[in-house]
Amino acid sequence: MPEDTPPHRLHTRLSHAGRAGTHVHGFVNPAVHRGSTVLYPSMAARRGAGAHRFEQHLIYGVMGTPTHWPLENVIAEVEGGTHCQIVSSGLAAVTTPLLAYLKAGDHLLMPDSVYGPTRSFCDGMLKRYGVDTTYYDPCITAAALVPLFRPNTTVLFTESPGSHTFEVQDIPALAEVAHARGAKVLMDNTWGIHFFQPFTKGVDCSIQALTKYVVGHSDVLLGGITVNTEADWECVRTAALALGQFASPDDCWLALRGVRTMAVRLERQMASGIAVASWLRGRPEVAEILHPALPGARGHELWKRDFSGASSLFGVVFQPRYSQAGVWEFAEALELFGIGASWGGFESLALPTNGFISRTAGSGDFGGQMLRLHVGLEAVEDLTADLERAMGVLGG
Ligand SMILES: *Cc1c(COP(=O)(O)O)cnc(C)c1O
Repeated sequence: MPEDTPPHRLHTRLSHAGRAGTHVHGFVNPAVHRGSTVLYPSMAARRGAGAHRFEQHLIYGVMGTPTHWPLENVIAEVEGGTHCQIVSSGLAAVTTPLLAYLKAGDHLLMPDSVYGPTRSFCDGMLKRYGVDTTYYDPCITAAALVPLFRPNTTVLFTESPGSHTFEVQDIPALAEVAHARGAKVLMDNTWGIHFFQPFTKGVDCSIQALTKYVVGHSDVLLGGITVNTEADWECVRTAALALGQFASPDDCWLALRGVRTMAVRLERQMASGIAVASWLRGRPEVAEILHPALPGARGHELWKRDFSGASSLFGVVFQPRYSQAGVWEFAEALELFGIGASWGGFESLALPTNGFISRTAGSGDFGGQMLRLHVGLEAVEDLTADLERAMGVLGG
């Protein structure tokens, strides 16, 4: 595209970005290239190959193939970054950049609302390797964040909205504090997907569990790490190669298929999610809905400022009179919502969360039993009818 042409809109880019080009005989999509060994025409070519490890260049299977590259390019487009590293899972997309940016003796700031396995990684492996983690209230102001920085704080991690509790973080303000102290800003942007553009908001490295809406069909685990500068790319790419991070070409091919329809699925799922959340808000059994796109909900103002849309994952807080056993029975009584982890697929899910999330920074008490709902592609009327029927087991 000529320099002076404005960029196409997202729907157009999702159809055209990362096309395979002419090397697949004119087919629209890339082939699945499976392979470990790449043969070199000469020893000189073999010797020079390593110099291309930061490029999309065939060197050895683990460094990527023409099946990986289109997906990398589309995810970089979705996030608004320059380079993307595809890794084996969303969790690997969290742990790989943490290992890339941190070293023994460093201090890390983590939101208290962070995805559980990310917390486990910090408290277990990172601690063992000499990295100290402080958990902060995800709703912290920039001024209150300042005193949490130490001379050795090198990473501010963010996740917005937070896992299970959906706190929206003031990313631009927090990023400014971090950058003034020479720290990098990492963000788990799985919920925001293309609705939050991390690199316009001060993020240095953006993480996606592609497993969710990109794959969209609950059948592949995959992660994406996207950056926006050459220095960040060298840092992340070097760590991914050192760790032997790799994603199966078959899975990349499925994720590439998924991403082509992602914006359309998300439009529908956003609307259905808001409709189901609004319906639940009117129920006497419900104390609060944790969905930043609902006017008046926690985090709504920040969401309106920074996001162009919402995914279909949100929280329900029941009235304090309901017990954990009651909410578990409610979840079991649902027929269209499965009980299960993960989200972003075509099907609806319900997951009671009390007792499964841990907090140490004093945030996270919402005063009642909580349920996380993922709204899929089913008809809203059927979902609300299912929820209404299951409310019967709660006893009014
Ligand atoms: C699911 C999830 C991950 C991890 O993704 P996997 O592919 O399941 O490993 C990371 N962060 C968030 C916010 C998630 O919801």
